[in-house]
Amino acid sequence: MTRSERDPLSKLDPRAPLVLDTRELGRRPGSQREVSRTVPAPADLGIEVLGVPEGSQVEFDLRLEAVMEGVLVTGTARAALEGECARCLEPISDDIEVRFQELFVYDDKDVDPDEEFEVSTLQDDLVDLEPLLRDAVVLALPFQPLCTEDCLGLCTTCGARLADDPDHGHDERVDPRWAALSTLTEPEQNHD
Ligand SMILES: [Zn+2]
Ligand SMILES: [Zn+2]
Repeated sequence: MTRSERDPLSKLDPRAPLVLDTRELGRRPGSQREVSRTVPAPADLGIEVLGVPEGSQVEFDLRLEAVMEGVLVTGTARAALEGECARCLEPISDDIEVRFQELFVYDDKDVDPDEEFEVSTLQDDLVDLEPLLRDAVVLALPFQPLCTEDCLGLCTTCGARLADDPDHGHDERVDPRWAALSTLTEPEQNHD
């Protein structure tokens, strides 16, 4: 879900782990606050083959800065990743650190209707970190996660993981019954 697809009328829950209250910051431009918090990861954070396990810890380090138009949120989030290699389907465990920066405009300021869908707004002085986190994580993930950069993938004939058995092949491994036949036919060719 992208930011623009979110229902603008849905109320933010101030107690939700990914909702940040900016009231302590005040509205004086230049005023700053550092916030660190660890929250459980929401569901479906990532892409189909690689993502942050639901409920695992996401560590935020954030800087909130009051500016004329609203609150500038800058920060990093660290989380564990789990998924599978796109080539050999081995499980992948990794971690990720993403950076983001977003201006949340005060919701009592007039916003140009043309810009409405581009702009994040504060709702009752609350910041919703979830769309920010989702966008940053999805952008940072590889399109095709691999267990190792040079993963050989799976054998197209038998499905074996080639990294475990790189030398195996199927050309020489002929069924013994066929092998017997081929020795029988060879002499015939020599008769001509
Ligand atoms: Zn692999
Ligand atoms: Zn094979």
